[in-house]
Amino acid sequence: MQEKVILATRNPGKVKEMRSILADFGLEVVSLDDIRDVPHVEEDGETFYENALKKARVIAKATGIMALADDSGLEVDYLDGAPGVYSARYSGEHATDKSNNSKLLSDLQGVPSGKRNARFRCVMVLFHPSGRWISAEGACEGEIAQSPAGEYGFGYDPVFFIPSLGKTMAQLTREEKNSLSHRGEALSRLKELLPDFLDSIQ
Ligand code: IMP
Repeated sequence: MQEKVILATRNPGKVKEMRSILADFGLEVVSLDDIRDVPHVEEDGETFYENALKKARVIAKATGIMALADDSGLEVDYLDGAPGVYSARYSGEHATDKSNNSKLLSDLQGVPSGKRNARFRCVMVLFHPSGRWISAEGACEGEIAQSPAGEYGFGYDPVFFIPSLGKTMAQLTREEKNSLSHRGEALSRLKELLPDFLDSIQ
Protein backbone atom coordinates (compact mmCIF):
# COMPACT_ATOMS: atom_id res chain seq x y z
CA MET A 1 0.00 0.00 0.00
CA GLN A 2 1.22 3.51 -0.81
CA GLU A 3 2.37 5.30 2.35
CA LYS A 4 0.60 8.61 3.01
CA VAL A 5 2.04 11.79 4.49
CA ILE A 6 0.00 14.69 5.81
CA LEU A 7 1.59 18.14 5.68
CA ALA A 8 1.05 19.91 9.00
CA THR A 9 0.90 23.41 7.50
CA ARG A 10 -1.67 25.59 5.71
CA ASN A 11 0.99 27.82 4.17
CA PRO A 12 0.65 27.22 0.38
CA GLY A 13 4.32 28.09 -0.28
CA LYS A 14 5.51 25.49 2.22
CA VAL A 15 3.03 22.89 0.91
CA LYS A 16 4.49 23.31 -2.58
CA GLU A 17 8.10 22.89 -1.41
CA MET A 18 7.32 19.87 0.78
CA ARG A 19 5.17 18.19 -1.86
CA SER A 20 7.90 18.33 -4.46
CA ILE A 21 10.45 16.41 -2.38
CA LEU A 22 8.02 13.84 -1.00
CA ALA A 23 6.72 13.04 -4.49
CA ASP A 24 10.21 11.72 -5.38
CA PHE A 25 9.69 8.94 -2.83
CA GLY A 26 6.32 7.77 -4.13
CA LEU A 27 4.52 9.01 -1.02
CA GLU A 28 0.92 10.12 -1.32
CA VAL A 29 0.75 13.67 0.01
CA VAL A 30 -2.41 14.92 1.72
CA SER A 31 -2.99 18.39 3.07
CA LEU A 32 -4.65 19.48 6.31
CA ASP A 33 -7.59 20.68 4.20
CA ASP A 34 -8.26 17.08 3.08
CA ILE A 35 -8.85 15.90 6.66
CA ARG A 36 -11.75 16.80 8.96
CA ASP A 37 -11.42 17.65 12.65
CA VAL A 38 -7.67 18.16 12.75
CA PRO A 39 -6.74 19.41 16.23
CA HIS A 40 -5.33 22.92 16.58
CA VAL A 41 -1.77 22.76 17.86
CA GLU A 42 -0.54 25.57 20.14
CA GLU A 43 3.04 26.50 19.18
CA ASP A 44 4.19 27.09 22.74
CA GLY A 45 7.62 25.45 22.67
CA GLU A 46 10.85 27.27 23.50
CA THR A 47 12.67 25.96 20.44
CA PHE A 48 11.85 25.42 16.77
CA TYR A 49 12.49 21.70 17.34
CA GLU A 50 9.94 21.45 20.18
CA ASN A 51 7.28 23.19 18.09
CA ALA A 52 7.90 21.11 14.97
CA LEU A 53 7.92 17.86 16.97
CA LYS A 54 4.71 18.78 18.78
CA LYS A 55 2.88 19.69 15.55
CA ALA A 56 3.99 16.52 13.73
CA ARG A 57 3.29 14.24 16.70
CA VAL A 58 -0.18 15.61 17.52
CA ILE A 59 -1.31 15.46 13.90
CA ALA A 60 0.13 11.99 13.24
CA LYS A 61 -1.48 10.60 16.41
CA ALA A 62 -4.86 12.29 15.71
CA THR A 63 -5.09 11.20 12.06
CA GLY A 64 -3.16 7.93 12.07
CA ILE A 65 -1.19 9.29 9.08
CA MET A 66 2.54 10.07 9.03
CA ALA A 67 2.90 13.87 9.45
CA LEU A 68 5.54 16.35 8.30
CA ALA A 69 5.76 19.61 10.24
CA ASP A 70 8.22 22.48 10.22
CA ASP A 71 8.91 25.40 12.47
CA SER A 72 11.04 28.33 11.47
CA GLY A 73 11.96 31.88 12.31
CA LEU A 74 14.54 34.61 12.41
CA GLU A 75 17.35 35.00 14.96
CA VAL A 76 19.12 38.35 15.26
CA ASP A 77 22.45 38.31 17.15
CA TYR A 78 22.18 41.92 18.38
CA LEU A 79 18.78 41.05 19.91
CA ASP A 80 20.17 37.91 21.63
CA GLY A 81 18.42 35.61 19.17
CA ALA A 82 15.02 37.39 19.12
CA PRO A 83 12.47 37.18 17.59
CA GLY A 84 13.23 33.40 17.39
CA VAL A 85 10.18 31.23 18.09
CA TYR A 86 8.14 34.45 18.42
CA SER A 87 8.93 35.53 14.83
CA ALA A 88 5.32 35.38 13.60
CA ARG A 89 3.99 37.52 16.48
CA TYR A 90 7.01 39.77 17.15
CA SER A 91 4.98 42.99 16.98
CA GLY A 92 2.01 41.66 18.96
CA GLU A 93 -1.01 39.43 18.75
CA HIS A 94 -2.32 41.00 15.51
CA ALA A 95 1.11 41.21 13.90
CA THR A 96 1.48 41.40 10.13
CA ASP A 97 4.65 40.93 8.08
CA LYS A 98 4.76 44.70 7.68
CA SER A 99 4.40 45.48 11.39
CA ASN A 100 7.01 42.83 12.28
CA ASN A 101 9.50 44.29 9.81
CA SER A 102 8.86 47.82 11.10
CA LYS A 103 9.43 46.73 14.69
CA LEU A 104 12.62 44.92 13.76
CA LEU A 105 14.03 47.92 11.90
CA SER A 106 13.15 50.24 14.77
CA ASP A 107 14.72 47.87 17.35
CA LEU A 108 17.92 47.99 15.28
CA GLN A 109 17.86 51.72 14.62
CA GLY A 110 21.39 53.14 14.82
CA VAL A 111 22.99 49.67 14.86
CA PRO A 112 25.71 49.69 12.16
CA SER A 113 26.08 47.02 9.48
CA GLY A 114 28.54 44.47 10.82
CA LYS A 115 26.45 44.25 14.00
CA ARG A 116 23.23 43.27 12.25
CA ASN A 117 24.01 39.57 11.67
CA ALA A 118 21.01 37.26 11.58
CA ARG A 119 19.90 33.88 10.36
CA PHE A 120 16.74 32.11 9.37
CA ARG A 121 16.40 28.68 10.96
CA CYS A 122 14.10 25.81 10.11
CA VAL A 123 13.51 22.45 11.78
CA MET A 124 11.47 19.72 10.07
CA VAL A 125 10.04 16.67 11.80
CA LEU A 126 8.50 13.66 10.09
CA PHE A 127 6.49 11.66 12.63
CA HIS A 128 5.01 8.19 12.07
CA PRO A 129 1.91 7.23 14.12
CA SER A 130 3.90 4.26 15.49
CA GLY A 131 5.96 6.81 17.43
CA ARG A 132 9.12 6.86 15.30
CA TRP A 133 10.36 10.14 13.87
CA ILE A 134 13.25 11.86 12.14
CA SER A 135 14.24 15.52 12.16
CA ALA A 136 16.45 17.79 10.07
CA GLU A 137 17.62 21.39 10.40
CA GLY A 138 18.66 24.15 8.04
CA ALA A 139 19.96 27.69 8.46
CA CYS A 140 20.59 30.65 6.19
CA GLU A 141 22.98 33.41 7.27
CA GLY A 142 22.57 37.08 6.42
CA GLU A 143 22.10 40.50 7.99
CA ILE A 144 19.22 42.84 8.63
CA ALA A 145 19.09 45.60 6.01
CA GLN A 146 18.65 49.28 6.94
CA SER A 147 15.39 49.38 4.95
CA PRO A 148 13.13 46.87 3.16
CA ALA A 149 13.66 45.93 -0.50
CA GLY A 150 12.08 43.41 -2.88
CA GLU A 151 8.62 42.06 -3.60
CA TYR A 152 8.96 38.26 -3.49
CA GLY A 153 8.69 35.83 -0.57
CA PHE A 154 7.00 36.56 2.73
CA GLY A 155 7.69 37.42 6.36
CA TYR A 156 11.08 39.01 6.98
CA ASP A 157 12.35 38.44 3.43
CA PRO A 158 12.39 42.17 2.49
CA VAL A 159 14.72 43.04 5.40
CA PHE A 160 16.94 39.93 5.23
CA PHE A 161 20.02 40.89 3.22
CA ILE A 162 22.42 38.27 1.83
CA PRO A 163 25.83 39.97 1.44
CA SER A 164 27.28 37.41 -1.01
CA LEU A 165 24.41 38.14 -3.44
CA GLY A 166 24.00 41.84 -2.67
CA LYS A 167 20.23 41.25 -2.48
CA THR A 168 17.52 40.77 0.10
CA MET A 169 15.69 37.45 0.24
CA ALA A 170 12.64 39.26 -1.23
CA GLN A 171 14.68 40.10 -4.36
CA LEU A 172 15.23 36.40 -5.15
CA THR A 173 12.93 34.25 -7.29
CA ARG A 174 11.32 31.26 -5.61
CA GLU A 175 13.85 28.90 -7.22
CA GLU A 176 16.79 31.05 -6.07
CA LYS A 177 15.38 31.23 -2.55
CA ASN A 178 14.75 27.47 -2.35
CA SER A 179 18.32 26.75 -3.40
CA LEU A 180 19.80 28.59 -0.41
CA SER A 181 17.03 28.92 2.17
CA HIS A 182 16.89 27.39 5.63
CA ARG A 183 13.78 25.45 4.56
CA GLY A 184 15.44 24.18 1.39
CA GLU A 185 18.43 22.97 3.42
CA ALA A 186 16.26 21.25 6.06
CA LEU A 187 14.25 19.55 3.31
CA SER A 188 17.31 18.26 1.49
CA ARG A 189 18.73 16.88 4.76
CA LEU A 190 15.41 15.21 5.50
CA LYS A 191 15.47 13.74 2.02
CA GLU A 192 18.81 12.05 2.81
CA LEU A 193 17.28 10.42 5.91
CA LEU A 194 14.05 9.35 4.22
CA PRO A 195 15.04 6.02 2.58
CA ASP A 196 16.26 4.44 5.86
CA PHE A 197 13.30 5.87 7.77
CA LEU A 198 10.77 4.50 5.31
CA ASP A 199 12.47 1.09 5.50
CA SER A 200 12.34 1.18 9.30
CA ILE A 201 8.58 1.70 9.46
CA GLN A 202 7.67 -1.13 7.06
P1 IMP B 1 6.38 29.38 10.99
O1 IMP B 1 7.45 28.37 10.75
O2 IMP B 1 5.33 29.34 9.93
O3 IMP B 1 5.85 29.34 12.39
O4 IMP B 1 7.10 30.79 10.75
C1 IMP B 1 7.31 31.73 11.75
C2 IMP B 1 7.64 33.08 11.21
O5 IMP B 1 9.04 33.12 10.87
C3 IMP B 1 6.92 33.50 9.92
O6 IMP B 1 5.67 34.06 10.20
C4 IMP B 1 7.87 34.54 9.38
O7 IMP B 1 7.67 35.76 10.04
C5 IMP B 1 9.24 33.99 9.79
N1 IMP B 1 9.83 33.20 8.68
C6 IMP B 1 10.01 31.86 8.62
N2 IMP B 1 10.55 31.49 7.45
C7 IMP B 1 10.71 32.63 6.75
C8 IMP B 1 11.20 32.91 5.43
O8 IMP B 1 11.58 32.03 4.64
N3 IMP B 1 11.21 34.21 5.08
C9 IMP B 1 10.78 35.21 5.88
N4 IMP B 1 10.28 35.01 7.09
C10 IMP B 1 10.25 33.72 7.53
